[in-house]
Amino acid sequence: MRLQQYLKEGPEDADPETEQMLSDFIEMFIEDGFKKKEDHYRKIYKETFGREYQPVKEFIPKPSLDKVYSKDDFKRYQDYISYSEKLYILKFSTYKGLATTSYSNPEITWNQTVDWLSGLEVAAKLGNPRGTEGAWVTNDKEVTFKKSYEKNKVSKELLIHEMGHILDHKLNDISLRSNGDLFLHNMKATNYDMNPAEIFADSFMTYFIYPKYLKAGWKEVYAFFEKKIPGKWKKAVKELLKMK
Ligand SMILES: [Zn+2]
Repeated sequence: MRLQQYLKEGPEDADPETEQMLSDFIEMFIEDGFKKKEDHYRKIYKETFGREYQPVKEFIPKPSLDKVYSKDDFKRYQDYISYSEKLYILKFSTYKGLATTSYSNPEITWNQTVDWLSGLEVAAKLGNPRGTEGAWVTNDKEVTFKKSYEKNKVSKELLIHEMGHILDHKLNDISLRSNGDLFLHNMKATNYDMNPAEIFADSFMTYFIYPKYLKAGWKEVYAFFEKKIPGKWKKAVKELLKMK
């Protein structure tokens, strides 16, 4: 039964099909944030069925390491995000014992930073930060650092994270694509952000700093970086971690 026809003919024709249709409308307006339309259809629903509309039962499975769900298993994107967050917390608590490292001296000078990046054909620039960021990347050729880094030391972790963004750009922003899915979202190895580009960059850093942790908890992410990071980069990062 079509909605227009239903609205003309009224409640006596109410049936499961109509209920489904009205429910879909209400859900759609909730998602789009059209409160007036949502309330309008809630009213029709109540008049028709003599009860308030109850939302579709949320599908947020209890996270388990035995069965991992993907984006396609969820009707609502928000449920998928909630699930991803919970799964991350479970994985982190399970594998955090492996997030240990023996590398020392986590900061290098500005000159060392410039030299190290130039070895990878990346320019180090100084600029005014966007918001609170310490460094940022807009293409695959340069990293811009806030001006104070010229005098202060640069954290190796920050530097590796920014190289993650460079790799992402070199792979045509793969973090945002991969068949319309949000790459690395459901297998996020970091709680840094829910932005796939940041998850990508931070997971890239985890690959080098906490490899055992990444390999145990996020096999697909580890395998992805193992395959995609050029050999030259792997060698350079290992040298960076030893640098004093
Ligand atoms: Zn970043």
